Amino acid sequence: MFTKILIANRGEIATRIIRACKEMNIRSAVIYTEEDSTALYIKKADEAYLVTPGPIEAYLNIHRIVDIAQKIRADAIHPGYGFVSENPKMAALCEKKGIVFIGPSSDAIALMGNKLKARQFMKEHGIPVVAGSDGPIRSEDEALMWGRKIGYPVIIKASAGGGGRGLRIAMNEHELRRYYYLAVSEAKKFFDNPEVFIERYIAKPHHIEVQVLADHQGNAVYLGERDCSIQRRHQKIIEIAPSLILGDKKRKEIGSLALKIVRLVNYTNAGTVEFIVDSSMRHYFMEMNTRLQVEHPVTEAITGIDIVKKQIEIAAGLQLSIRQRDVDIRGNAIECRLIAEDPQNGFLPHGGRITAYYSPGGIGIRIDGAVYKDYIVPDYYDPLLAKLTATGSTWEEAVDRARRALDEFVIRGIKTNIPYLRAIMQNEDFRKGYFDTEFIDEHPDLLDYSNVADPVDAVIAIASAISVYEGM
Ligand code: ADP
Ligand code: ADP
Ligand code: MG
Repeated sequence: MFTKILIANRGEIATRIIRACKEMNIRSAVIYTEEDSTALYIKKADEAYLVTPGPIEAYLNIHRIVDIAQKIRADAIHPGYGFVSENPKMAALCEKKGIVFIGPSSDAIALMGNKLKARQFMKEHGIPVVAGSDGPIRSEDEALMWGRKIGYPVIIKASAGGGGRGLRIAMNEHELRRYYYLAVSEAKKFFDNPEVFIERYIAKPHHIEVQVLADHQGNAVYLGERDCSIQRRHQKIIEIAPSLILGDKKRKEIGSLALKIVRLVNYTNAGTVEFIVDSSMRHYFMEMNTRLQVEHPVTEAITGIDIVKKQIEIAAGLQLSIRQRDVDIRGNAIECRLIAEDPQNGFLPHGGRITAYYSPGGIGIRIDGAVYKDYIVPDYYDPLLAKLTATGSTWEEAVDRARRALDEFVIRGIKTNIPYLRAIMQNEDFRKGYFDTEFIDEHPDLLDYSNVADPVDAVIAIASAISVYEGM
C-alpha cells in the first residue's frame, strides 16, 4: 500500500480524500495557494505545500504538481474532481515519472474527455446514443442540415465541454443559427477547442448515472445508480440514490451496459457513466466522467462502500474485494449542495466572512464541509461550502431528514442557497418523486422563500453558544 498520497485539489473534496488516507494509515499531503491559505483542508492534511501562482494556475500546473510529489516522496497523486482530474496529460505524465495517478489510464481519459469522440465510439459499439450529428459541425449550413434531419429542439454541445457549461438549446432554425456561432466562440474561449456537435434535445428526461469500479485484474462492479435530475442550468444541485423511476430490471440493464462500456475502453478505477432516460424509459449514453464525482456520497450511503478507499486500493494494484452479488442497496440517500450564492438575486455567487457556522448532526446525516466560523469564502473558486447527505430507510424519511438537517444548518455572514434547498424539500412534486431535469425551471415559486419563517433563527442561539464554547 502507499505510504504517502499527494492530493492535487482543494476544498471539501481534499478533506474527503484526507479522511480516507487517515483511515488507511497513509500520510496525506496537499497543495494550496496564497488565496487558499486559510482553507480548512490544509489544517486537516499531514503536510501542506504552498504553490504559486494562485489562485487557479497552481492547481492546474501538472509539471509542478508531479515535481512536488517526487520531492516529497509521495507514491501517488489523487486528483479529486475538476482541475487536473480529467487531464489525460496529467495521467500520462504520472505514468512517465513513475508516480501512480489515482484514476484511469491516460488513454481512457483522452477518449472519454471528448464528448463527441466518446459518443462516436459508443455508437460504433452498439451502445444507444441520442440522435445527433455524426461528427463536428463545421458551418451554419451543416448545423441547419442536422437540425432538419434530427428535428427540434436540439442541444448544441462543446466536444470539450463540462460542468454544465458549453451547452445551448435551440428550439428552432432561427435559434440554431444564432446559437451556433455563440457556441463555437464560447467553446474556443472556455475549453480551448471550438469543436461543437448537435444532439436532439430530449424533453423532460432524467439524468441517471451509474457508478462503476474496475480493478487492474479485469474485475468490475457497478454500485447502482444516482438520479441527478435536479439541476439548474445543467448543473446538479441535488442528487439522489437509488433512482425512484428504475425498477430492478432496468437497473440491471443500465448497470450491465455501464460494465460493457468499462470493458470496451479497458477502464480502471472509479468512474461514472451518465445516461439520459426519456419519458418512455428509453436510455441513451450521454458521457463518461473518468474521476470521483461530487455526488459520490449518496452511493456510499446506500451501499456502505467507501469509494475513495476503493480508488486507492485499485490504484495500488489490489484486486477488487467486492463482486456484483455483494453490492447490496439499502435505503435512500439525498445530497444537497450548499453553495455560497443568492438564489433570489439570480444565484449570484456570494463570498465573504462566515460569522456563524453550525453544521447539523444526528441519525442519517453526513456533512462534507469546506468552511468554518471566521473563514472568508474566496471569490476565486467554486462556491461549494458543504455537502449535506441525508440517508433514510425510505425516500420519505430521507427527504424529511434532509429538511430537518437544513433547518439545523446555520451559516451566517454570507448568502447561501440553504433556504432554497429547504423549499425544494418541502415541494409536493419533489416529495412525491415527480421531477425531471426541467423541475427547477418549472418551479420558479421555489424562490418565494422569504415568506416562510426562517427556522434558522430558532437555532441561532445554539450556534452562538457553540462559538462561545469553541472560543474558550
Ligand atoms: P456536462 O459535461 O456539462 O455534465 P452533459 O453532456 O453531461 O454535460 O449534460 C449535462 C446536462 O445537460 C444533462 O445532465 C442533462 O440535464 C442535459 N442534457 C444533455 N444532453 C441532453 C439531451 N440530448 N437532451 C436533453 N438534455 C440533455
Ligand atoms: P466537516 O464534517 O464539516 O467537514 P468537521 O467534522 O471536521 O467538519 O468539523 C465540524 C466543524 O468544526 C467544521 O465544520 C468547522 O466549522 C469546525 N472545524 C473543524 N476543524 C476546524 C479547524 N481546523 N479550524 C477551524 N474550524 C474547524
Ligand atoms: Mg455530465
